[in-house]
Amino acid sequence: MRTWDQGTRRKYVEMTAAFSDRIWLDRPVRKIRRSASGVEVEDGGGTRHAFDDVIVACNANQTLMILDRPTFMKRWLLSSVRYESELHNHTVVHSDASVLPDDEVRPLATRSNHIGQYGARSDNCGVTHIMHNRQPLAKRSARPCLVTGNTVSRIDEHKIVKRWWFRHIVHDVRHVAVLIHLFRLVQGRRRTWYCGAHKLINSQETCFVTRLAAARQLGADYPFKDPEARKWFSFCGRMMFGWRFRKA
Ligand SMILES: Cc1cc2nc3c(=O)[nH]c(=O)nc-3n(C[C@H](O)[C@H](O)[C@H](O)COP(=O)(O)OP(=O)(O)OC[C@H]3O[C@@H](n4cnc5c(N)ncnc54)[C@H](O)[C@@H]3O)c2cc1C
Repeated sequence: MRTWDQGTRRKYVEMTAAFSDRIWLDRPVRKIRRSASGVEVEDGGGTRHAFDDVIVACNANQTLMILDRPTFMKRWLLSSVRYESELHNHTVVHSDASVLPDDEVRPLATRSNHIGQYGARSDNCGVTHIMHNRQPLAKRSARPCLVTGNTVSRIDEHKIVKRWWFRHIVHDVRHVAVLIHLFRLVQGRRRTWYCGAHKLINSQETCFVTRLAAARQLGADYPFKDPEARKWFSFCGRMMFGWRFRKA
């Protein structure tokens, strides 16, 4: 495993150093209005800003909520992407080791996760990630550092640090065989570009690549040197944009 001194947060600070003054955080987008001359983005506070183009990097259903007057094709495509909220949807950060079995495997000391099957289907399981065995930073903690998704056992309220909620995209046959390819037809239309898991595959790396690919279509350089990564970038870009993609 590779980690960075002071965590990935430091990497983001480095990567954005040249334009950090133009990044606005905690400003949800309420509406995106497109016209022949540009794009107007309205934030949660009602302030409007004008741009040449917009890259929408949120989930398909969220995109549909903020796009003003989407075409029939965009509405159909975006609403066809399905999300499921069963697997790992309720996640708890805590220090209650009673959710782990007390057996000879000694998960608290040795394992990176514990999966507890509670039903017949493969996704009928609760997963506890044992973070102090995975992250060097957490090793220094005096308490267990645990993240449990879909817990079936009770977690001591006093040991809960945070509760969160997640959602996963469903890569059903229709999404993989049809939707991903049809999205090419709407990319860049009315100055709007799309990226994220529903454009390709639900993984952190590919979603990052979809963002780079969208930026590349708008004229950005591909920033990395590794030839294998460059090859995969071009492959992913082709999947998203078809023959129009500006290969790295
Ligand atoms: C519990 C869990 C564990 C996972 N584990 C792994 C793993 O181990 N490895 C791996 O590769 N992948 C993992 N994934 C998958 C990975 O996290 C996703 O594939 C990836 O984050 C999806 O990226 P995205 O850009 O499509 O969407 P997101 O990461 O969901 O980003 C969309 C962003 O848009 C923001 N947003 C939404 N609406 C608005 C709005 N109106 N205005 C402004 N911002 C808005 C959201 O707040 C969010 O930050 C995991 C996912 C989950 C849920």
